[in-house]
Amino acid sequence: MGGPSVGLPFETLGAPWRAGVRPGSRDVEEPLEVRWYGDDTVVLRQSKTRTFEAPFLFLLFGEERALLLDTGAVADPDAMPLRATVDALIDEWLRRRGEQRTTEYELVVAHTHGHGDHVAGDPQFADRPSTTVVGRAVGDVREFFGFRAWPDEVVDFDIGGRRLELIASPGHHPAAVTTYDPTTGFLLTGDTIYPGRLYAPDFPAFVATLERLTAFRASRGITALVGCHIEMSRRPGKDYPVGALHQPDEAPLPMPPDRLTDVLAAARSVSSRPGAHAFAEYAIYHGPCQAALARQLLRGKVRNGVGRLASIARR
Ligand SMILES: [Zn+2]
Repeated sequence: MGGPSVGLPFETLGAPWRAGVRPGSRDVEEPLEVRWYGDDTVVLRQSKTRTFEAPFLFLLFGEERALLLDTGAVADPDAMPLRATVDALIDEWLRRRGEQRTTEYELVVAHTHGHGDHVAGDPQFADRPSTTVVGRAVGDVREFFGFRAWPDEVVDFDIGGRRLELIASPGHHPAAVTTYDPTTGFLLTGDTIYPGRLYAPDFPAFVATLERLTAFRASRGITALVGCHIEMSRRPGKDYPVGALHQPDEAPLPMPPDRLTDVLAAARSVSSRPGAHAFAEYAIYHGPCQAALARQLLRGKVRNGVGRLASIARR
């Protein structure tokens, strides 16, 4: 372990992901799309045929333990066999290293943030041996990772030869954290930055988080920002409606590190104007944005032609 992983994030993770099926089609995708990035990192996506959120999840392997960041939007293990998939991936990783399946190898299940589309699979891990599931509230996150000066302190979380750094990232959600992984150079930005609608109900906290991430970036080798959803198409300024079940021309998952600077500048430019603001690669939802969200929901309903929209209040 150690040293930057081989492979370019924009090729491996930037190639199109499965993005749902045409409305009215009876086709169904596999519940999870799984991609290895190097030997010690897995990125998973939950299918739009199971949840319109189609969140991305991350499994990072260290010598001592593995970290699963997020459990997605679906609780039912039959519809979404996340635990079985993670168990198989851990077995595969151990086998490749010549080790038998062992209940000794630890798993930590934590979250980019506590919204329902990132924690729904937690109960699947409740009875798993050698497993810790970190709670979704600020207090749980602070206590487990040892944050004392939240949100200003950056804390280390060593999974064995892989010393991750966690940056408190409130704004989108009070308990949001961003994870920097020196092995891949990824900054895992959760729902704080991704190619989509950046919901910032606590706007001052959101801007302060972007400022801290920008300062952090200056002294680290970051290869890509990687978020938890894709809602933009590859056409500048064109997003898919909330609840879209088919996104045939998605923007790539990894974002260039400069995106951080762009989003900070964009956020500052709308700091005195609550509401929804579109930019080429993302949109910023400053404050609660009730009217803009209602328009989005209507747009999604018209597009899907069915009332299959879950509430987005939890976003
Ligand atoms: Zn989300």
